Amino acid sequence: MLTKVVIANRGEIALRILRACRELGIRTVAIHSTADRDLKHVRLADESVCIGPPASITSYLNIPAVISAAEVTDSVAIHPGYGFLSENADFAEQVEKSGFVFIGPRPETIRLMGDKVSAIKTMKLAGVPCVPGSDGPLGEDMEENARLARGIGYPVIIKASGGGGGRGMRVVHSEATLASAISLTKTEAASAFGNDMVYMEKYLENPRHIEIQVLADTHGNAIHLGERDCSMQRRHQKVIEEAPAPGISEEIRNKIGGRCAKACQEIGYRGAGTFEFLYEGGEFYFIEMNTRLQVEHPVTELITGVDIVREQLMIADGEALSLTQAQVKIQGHALECRINAEDPQNFMPSPGLISRYHAPGGPGVRVDTHIYAGYKVPPYYDSMIGKLITHANNRESAINRMCIALDEMVIDGIKTNIPLHQRLLKDSGFRAGGTSIHYLEKKLAM
Ligand code: ADP
Repeated sequence: MLTKVVIANRGEIALRILRACRELGIRTVAIHSTADRDLKHVRLADESVCIGPPASITSYLNIPAVISAAEVTDSVAIHPGYGFLSENADFAEQVEKSGFVFIGPRPETIRLMGDKVSAIKTMKLAGVPCVPGSDGPLGEDMEENARLARGIGYPVIIKASGGGGGRGMRVVHSEATLASAISLTKTEAASAFGNDMVYMEKYLENPRHIEIQVLADTHGNAIHLGERDCSMQRRHQKVIEEAPAPGISEEIRNKIGGRCAKACQEIGYRGAGTFEFLYEGGEFYFIEMNTRLQVEHPVTELITGVDIVREQLMIADGEALSLTQAQVKIQGHALECRINAEDPQNFMPSPGLISRYHAPGGPGVRVDTHIYAGYKVPPYYDSMIGKLITHANNRESAINRMCIALDEMVIDGIKTNIPLHQRLLKDSGFRAGGTSIHYLEKKLAM
């Protein structure tokens, strides 16, 4: 029985996990850095443990400190949230070896999916459509690499197998720069990720980012909860997400979602996960799997009525999924705007004291945030301070609801990107739906 869970994260997601635990009658332990004593979930948790100084590396990323916190509080399980240690296979392994339940996939699965070359190989075998590219890592033979690129067709993209966060990638437009691009990416990958393995893919010029949410239990059941469109990005960071994705029919959804669910069964996946795809010309191309809860999970929750964090906890407790694929029904449309403490003009972080805060509300409005009036946003972590999510019968109504909610939301004392969202929601391209991953950056450059 999951009687007590350590929440190994901070901010809005720590609060989200705390709430799910409370609903299930699970006791909670908040761990926090010295800069985070005033976080809302730290106050609400049954117990809290300070695990180190502000810098993440000395606190939220400090594996022995996190596991010790579970030990001293007699906890049963650890929920890693997203970011920090959530996709660290060594952490998951140490958690399990120390006798705790890791709320997430098996360490082997995290390792397999954390390496992109092995992830793609696994997905190809499972029948998930991938980007045309090299079958595995690129070798030293540059003539062979050039032949490969010609076969795929320029432009191609050279990607580090161990890459992440949009780093370790280089687009190549012609054979003249291929060799230098490969060796540069290799050198960068070796120093940034400690692994110089690189591979080649066709570079898709104008794709959308569409991802499939999956859930799998330890009884061999796996389902998908439909897709999310996260094409509104700046520097590979998602800004607005929505579900369902404009223009994706139920038939297409079930086909690609079904493939993902089947792949989960084949690899013995456990917990919540996301298959990320680039979508272009009516085709899906797998790029990577996220073996954790995602920031944008609420849009899926609102259109399906499934509490994804609750499912994660139940799966970790050995329970079967609470619903079958046939019971998953998509209703209406949901949008999420990520609220960041940053200057809406130049995107510089804007930490500091929140002097006034008024949350929006009303039907179909959800606010996932840890902020309150008097809370001081520390400068040490990600600038996202919350998420505003709306749900309505259709996309247009969900957008209108979001506009009203953004107008109602007051966050004083710091700068936020609320004005940027207000501008984007009025944009005709966004309103039409189905824009590519380059749309936002092009718009910002205008
Ligand atoms: P990371 O783990 O660093 O996020 P991904 O493989 O998910 O790496 O790629 C990040 C982003 O890079 C994608 O969302 C997309 O914008 C771009 N990208 C990656 N592969 C391709 C490709 N084959 N064609 C076009 N864009 C790509």
